[in-house]
Amino acid sequence: MKKQGFTTRSLNIPYSKEDPHKALQMPLYDSVAFEFDSAEQIAANFRGEYVAHVYSRASSPTVEYFELKLKALSQSHGVVAVSSGMAAISNTLMAVAKSGDNIISENHLFGHTYALLNQTLPDLGIETHFSDLLNPQEIEKLIDNNTRAIFFETVTNPQLEIADIEMLSEICKKHKLLLIADSTITPPNVFKAGSFGVNIEVISTTKYISGGATLFGGAIIDHGNFNWELNPNF
Ligand SMILES: *Cc1c(COP(=O)(O)O)cnc(C)c1O
Repeated sequence: MKKQGFTTRSLNIPYSKEDPHKALQMPLYDSVAFEFDSAEQIAANFRGEYVAHVYSRASSPTVEYFELKLKALSQSHGVVAVSSGMAAISNTLMAVAKSGDNIISENHLFGHTYALLNQTLPDLGIETHFSDLLNPQEIEKLIDNNTRAIFFETVTNPQLEIADIEMLSEICKKHKLLLIADSTITPPNVFKAGSFGVNIEVISTTKYISGGATLFGGAIIDHGNFNWELNPNF
């Protein structure tokens, strides 16, 4: 089969279940909860043996379809959609780092991200070592046994500095660290972060992906290229 281009892929992403009305546009499911056929079926779901949507905070058909779309477009391993870009960043960092751990980043960041790293996470015991991310010697000096990740913006907002992603990836591989990129300014339709060594992309879909900053959203994209056994929190 001929390799599909970006536009073809974006138009032909199947729903996880066939729509009973053959709707061409995924309907918006605004149900909080979903019904099961029997008590046995819901028990099987709770045991993890029968996969289905249960409660929309965790998953819903509409959100799942958005995740499937982003997964196909980014050709990644898995995608989790959340309610904003800040939710994507904070959920990711709080999953990979616990009290006593640290993250390497820089102070050229989106303002609320800087506040998260500089004020909120330290209250939870997670420190950020702020470095010049264009200077590999400085980065390596800041890495210690409790460092879990390097976090950066592919193009910093608002300074518009361009990261040297391959250099950051080399450092992460050498020190067995996760490389997390905020790629809001370079989403998967314009840049393949995974092929440059990024392990996790966090995106504010509020910006380019929403099609013009018309609704809030965020996404966490796993490129499937990190050995999670290297992070003690997993
Ligand atoms: C807007 C933005 C965010 C935060 O996203 P929200 O959807 O507003 O929470 C994070 N990083 C960058 C680079 C942004 O431009």
